[in-house]
Amino acid sequence: MLAVYCDTLDALGHAGGDAHPDIPAALEMIDAQLGRIVEATQDAGIYGRTAFVVMGDHGMTTFDKGFADEALHPGPRPHRVAAAGRVTAARAVGTEP
Ligand SMILES: [Zn+2]
Repeated sequence: MLAVYCDTLDALGHAGGDAHPDIPAALEMIDAQLGRIVEATQDAGIYGRTAFVVMGDHGMTTFDKGFADEALHPGPRPHRVAAAGRVTAARAVGTEP
């Protein structure tokens, strides 16, 4: 098993949104690197018995409304989590609940 992580596209998207001007070049670079991996399996004679799984941690679409505020911070409207008797809180990485 070979696992490869490429954070370039994710970092660009977080830095400048889905319209970041460097995204097309990053996609071409990632595509070329994936091609190198495929070619390596062909050269090694294992292409026919190799599964390629390519995935991302999330999509990258610019939006101006999310659900976090509504889900985590009950407002004046009835709130499903609060209505269920649960307490919500936002947690940051590295903090204890
Ligand atoms: Zn991300």
